[in-house]
Amino acid sequence: MTLPFLRRQFLLGASSLTVGASILARGLSAAEANTYDMIIVGGGTSGLPAATFASQRGARVLVLEVADVVGGTLYLSTGQMSAAGTKLQKSLGIVDTPQKHFDDVMRISRGTVDQDLVRLDVENAADTFDWLTDNGLKPLPDHPIKGFGHEFYYERRYAWGPQGGLSILDVVKPIFEAEAKKGKITLKLETRARELLMRDGKVIGVRAEDSAGKTTDYLGRNVVLASGGYQMNPALVQELLGYPQHAAPAYPMSRGDGLQMALAAGGYARGKQNYLTGIGRVLASDDEPSVPLVQFNVYPERRKPWEIYVNAHGKRWVREDDEGIDQRERELMKQPDLRFWIVFDQAIFDAASSGFIDWSKEQVAKAFTKEAMFKKANTIRELAVAAGVDPAGLEATIAAYNKAVATKKDPDFGREHMPLPIAKPPFYIVRQQGYNVTSCVGIGVDKSLRVTRKDGSAIAGLYASGEILGSGQLMGNATEGGMMVTPALTFGRLLGQRIVPVKA
Ligand SMILES: Cc1cc2nc3c(=O)[nH]c(=O)nc-3n(C[C@H](O)[C@H](O)[C@H](O)COP(=O)(O)OP(=O)(O)OC[C@H]3O[C@@H](n4cnc5c(N)ncnc54)[C@H](O)[C@@H]3O)c2cc1C
Repeated sequence: MTLPFLRRQFLLGASSLTVGASILARGLSAAEANTYDMIIVGGGTSGLPAATFASQRGARVLVLEVADVVGGTLYLSTGQMSAAGTKLQKSLGIVDTPQKHFDDVMRISRGTVDQDLVRLDVENAADTFDWLTDNGLKPLPDHPIKGFGHEFYYERRYAWGPQGGLSILDVVKPIFEAEAKKGKITLKLETRARELLMRDGKVIGVRAEDSAGKTTDYLGRNVVLASGGYQMNPALVQELLGYPQHAAPAYPMSRGDGLQMALAAGGYARGKQNYLTGIGRVLASDDEPSVPLVQFNVYPERRKPWEIYVNAHGKRWVREDDEGIDQRERELMKQPDLRFWIVFDQAIFDAASSGFIDWSKEQVAKAFTKEAMFKKANTIRELAVAAGVDPAGLEATIAAYNKAVATKKDPDFGREHMPLPIAKPPFYIVRQQGYNVTSCVGIGVDKSLRVTRKDGSAIAGLYASGEILGSGQLMGNATEGGMMVTPALTFGRLLGQRIVPVKA
């Protein structure tokens, strides 16, 4: 992934500097400590509304942003939001409530979310969504819908603009810039927060480093960590989840800086037990991590599968035409390296539409001549060897599948859509890697978004918002549409508008 606006190499490279918390040795006067009412680490999805609304309330705000632009993950995000009771729903006669939204999240997540955070989101999401639409966001014509790519809600509350996250940024950024012109917001770009400054157990500021390597201490009465997730920090993914990070799918600055600073200040990480892999994509290479190359359509409601999916043992592991999305992800959790291979033959290639999203069949054919994950061979055994899959396992699986096609009965998984056997050479195989675009483990907070210690006591002066809270809390052990972007925007808005105190 190349993001043209991230020009400076130092931003993309690993750094030897640490992030953490430091105790200020010298005494500070009250005036010094009150330079800003709110220091926001990260000018992204959550940080921009936090700064905007805080400034509107008269707060003096400092935004520290490591990139040379604001916006964060909104540059990449699909920007799919969910909110109940919006003006858009009302205009369409859709009767929806935060309670129904909450119940749906509980149903899909099987009760594994942090209920306080989900309540805070669903009860305030409509105001956030209305703020966006009042200021120009135009959702797609048939929106809101019940679902897309994840388990469906029972109500139509899921919506986004034609350009996904950019459609949100196109609204949020000009409002932020207009507010900043009024003089209450100081924005420091290319400035990476490194440490929380603490005195007597209270957070009183942030130590940050600019692009020239100069370190400055910024003092403020409250600090909001809105620095996003850690999916671009493979070492941290491994440490927090116990899984290697094979893919590099997120915003380059999502390195977990804020999470590490909050941990160093006494906070605690939570949510690992809720880890659920996304179904993933075909990666460009075996580099670790590698950029995603193309997505295969594993959604039977959009394209019924002609292929079979096998694991490293050459065995099928899921009913390919089962529409349960979370169920497929749960099964993938059991497969070695969260990997599977899509297998088909020439007859299927000729008869079926392209299963690779946004790729024509010509592009797919070309991929087999040059892309690392695409292999082709004249026998099943050669195919398995080329892909690194167990050959005997794959031969046995294909023989069993072909019998199922002939008898129209799949005794192993009960699959119904089996149009053709896998029998006509050449044979094709493509490796697919499970991974996530968002971070599961997050920093522990209370219902006012104050970062807490494990015993529940709040670390004075420290708040967190956005992906730093972790999908494990916001979505639990599942994926509910819009439950990352919407809370990021909403919690940022609430922190700025009313949660963070601006007067001493
Ligand atoms: C490809 C993709 C698609 C997605 N699609 C959806 C979707 O459709 N629906 C949904 O709900 N969620 C989706 N998500 C997730 C969602 O977009 C994010 O969780 C959310 O945007 C994160 O918001 P944030 O404010 O926490 O982080 P960000 O928007 O990433 O903002 C964090 C900011 O902090 C800055 N920063 C980081 N470290 C530092 C530091 N040390 N000092 C200073 N600044 C720092 C970053 O540069 C960035 O600007 C998607 C994510 C991805 C990657």
